[in-house]
Amino acid sequence: MGTQGKGNIYHIKIYCAQCNTYLFKYRKEKRGSLVRCYIDNIVDDNTKGDLKCPGCLQEFARFKIEKTRPANRMIQGKIFIKGHLKK
Ligand SMILES: [Zn+2]
Repeated sequence: MGTQGKGNIYHIKIYCAQCNTYLFKYRKEKRGSLVRCYIDNIVDDNTKGDLKCPGCLQEFARFKIEKTRPANRMIQGKIFIKGHLKK
């Protein structure tokens, strides 16, 4: 790891689709659509860790262990992303 990497790591910000509240900043390892967020790649968390939006309290993800790594599985349509996300 480290800052050198292979150029595939980039930062995105996740927002609530319902009320536009900033939820967290995430260090994404691969380009493509966001399906899950690994907990250890969340670099700045504006939530209470309960996977609910602090603004409108809607649930935006579900906790799941993905191959031994704790992750938030994002619920489609509940969030939107700002950052360098290529589709
Ligand atoms: Zn919200």
